[in-house]
Amino acid sequence: MATKLPESPKVGMVSLGCPKNLVDSERILTKLRSDGYQLSGDYAGADVVLVNTCGFLDSAKEESLEAIGEAISENGRVIVTGCMGKEAEMIRARFPDVLAITGAHQYEEVVGAVHTAAPMPPSAYLNLVPDSGLKLTPRHYSYLKISEGCNHRCAFCIIPSLRGDLVSRRPDAILREAEKLVAAGTKELLVISQDTSAYGIDIRKEPRMWKGEEVVPHMTDLARELGKIAPWVRLHYVYPYPHVDQVIPLMAEGLVLPYLDIPFQHASRNVLKAMKRPANEAKVLERLKNWREICPDIAIRSTFVVGFPGETEDDFEYLMDWLEEAQLDRVGAFRFEPVEGAAANDLPGAVPEAVKEERYARLMERTAAISAAKLQARIGRTLDVIIDEVDQEGGANGRSSADAPEIDGQVLLRDASHLTEGDIVRVTIEDADEHDLFGVPVAS
Ligand code: SF4
Repeated sequence: MATKLPESPKVGMVSLGCPKNLVDSERILTKLRSDGYQLSGDYAGADVVLVNTCGFLDSAKEESLEAIGEAISENGRVIVTGCMGKEAEMIRARFPDVLAITGAHQYEEVVGAVHTAAPMPPSAYLNLVPDSGLKLTPRHYSYLKISEGCNHRCAFCIIPSLRGDLVSRRPDAILREAEKLVAAGTKELLVISQDTSAYGIDIRKEPRMWKGEEVVPHMTDLARELGKIAPWVRLHYVYPYPHVDQVIPLMAEGLVLPYLDIPFQHASRNVLKAMKRPANEAKVLERLKNWREICPDIAIRSTFVVGFPGETEDDFEYLMDWLEEAQLDRVGAFRFEPVEGAAANDLPGAVPEAVKEERYARLMERTAAISAAKLQARIGRTLDVIIDEVDQEGGANGRSSADAPEIDGQVLLRDASHLTEGDIVRVTIEDADEHDLFGVPVAS
């Protein structure tokens, strides 16, 4: 017997204005088509109609308003996008029945509005791409990008010239994506960007409605909402700006994992200045202490560059002393390498390769000893562990809240054949080495 496929919704499009707007319309339709939607050539057959407006001249605005009016009277279910999105209040006053209004180039928002207005029926045949998108990570953890680009100009980095200044995603779009990922099996969301603590500074005055409440585009508010959606939320690439203090109580409450990935890169003021880093080490040690008082289990991960041009032995020694005092849980390091196009390449005081190697080895040795001591202190404790893999011999490997996938350590378990990938279980820690813990699941 033939399988009867559910009908996928049909979308109508009225595209006004210049060729740029036409290209936007094509992109929106391409995305909707790949999501499984059908296109409708007339109002009558459409489940929802998109009007991509132009607001270049008064006459173009009037034409756009007429097109919205016509779509409302012919179909009734209308989403407005394009240049006139800037005049949402005026459009709503004239056409209160419009379902959603989004601005020019807001592809994600307009596609999201179509999904809300005319949801795709669940079907493995229609939805070739799952709601959560195609993932390269295992089902139980997902990276969630909250912004693109960066407003800083660190001397060793070319990301701003490749990706431009910071552009934050709307909080409601991020939360919708998080919900889809969790519905598809994600247990751990890894929040990423170039600078997570700067999230929202470009759209601070644009709160969005989410589940009947306003969400301000700010790292703390976003982290709190994500914490309500996913069992584990981990924050990466956070700079130690003062407002980062606000997320620590969320960690103490258990809404967000007690883990911060802060790329300090160095501690010496001279080197940080030459690197043009957004924050320097002043008061950082004091703040680490305060964070640990509020949330004793917080794990701090960081990365450092050794051999940056102009780094003296004194600068390096300062970094080593600072690391001893900071007692970071996880540390990665790089030997400075010039990247084509980076401002650092023109700086004087290149550090010879042999010196870089020697400093790198010293730094890794010191931080491994700190890590080993910190992990020893965990022996005998019971920790939550997310299971990444169960092997054939009855063992499994997973991670505690202090371990991000791929970059940090693991918790290696015995007597774990009853577990499944993605389980979050209580584990008694029995042993430790420099980077990993060893344990056994607590009998339920
Ligand atoms: S290193 Fe990070 S903060 Fe600095 S410019 Fe590059 S992306 Fe921005």
